[in-house]
Amino acid sequence: GGCVVAVDGPSGSGKSTVSRRLAVALSARYLDTGAMYRAVTWAVLRAGVDPSDAAAVAAVCARVSLDVGTDPQAPHIRVDGVPVDGPIRGVDVTAAVSAVAAVPAVRAALVALQRKIIVAADRIVVEGRDIGTVVAPDADLKVYLTASVDERARRRSGENMVDVDTTAADLRRRDQFDSTRAADPLRRATDAVELDTTRLGIDEVVSRLRELLGV
Ligand code: C5P
Repeated sequence: GGCVVAVDGPSGSGKSTVSRRLAVALSARYLDTGAMYRAVTWAVLRAGVDPSDAAAVAAVCARVSLDVGTDPQAPHIRVDGVPVDGPIRGVDVTAAVSAVAAVPAVRAALVALQRKIIVAADRIVVEGRDIGTVVAPDADLKVYLTASVDERARRRSGENMVDVDTTAADLRRRDQFDSTRAADPLRRATDAVELDTTRLGIDEVVSRLRELLGV
């Protein structure tokens, strides 16, 4: 039968690695909602639009078409047919994504698309900031992952080849912005299980989640 797992938390909390691994273990699909906000941000920058101009950002979002893959072994995303998996992880997109994600029309469009993907998938692990609270409030399991800012910066810095101090400053800025914006801020759903991953390996986190799901 259907099974939806919602994984939320700040950047670098281990969401992506854990969600993909859990999806593989469950033979489920995987949806990275952060990649969708990043893809719209890529389109905004490519159009030469100022990310803080909400009306212009909403207009870009309304005219682009996103194609999101949900294979946990090979996630991919395209904007108007163009693969953007590499560029959406770059510093320019990372610096602008929180502003784009704060635009209500962008959130409305992406949440609607996310819900369609979830319904079509039936079994899926979905990661983001507002999955348990807004996108899938009826999820079978809601998880809220955290980790110390130093540990999160170490993880992200290793992935991006950007130094730890710059990464830590960027994480703090984005977390602050994401958790204080008016539209769907990052917060733990009241019924989410919170896991601090600072001292946990990926295998430990995944097996705890499997225990919670009873699989
Ligand atoms: O998870 P990731 O770091 O790729 O997300 C990039 C940004 O997208 C976040 O900093 C946040 O501003 C936004 N986001 C969001 N809601 C989600 C997923 C991501 O606002 N569900």
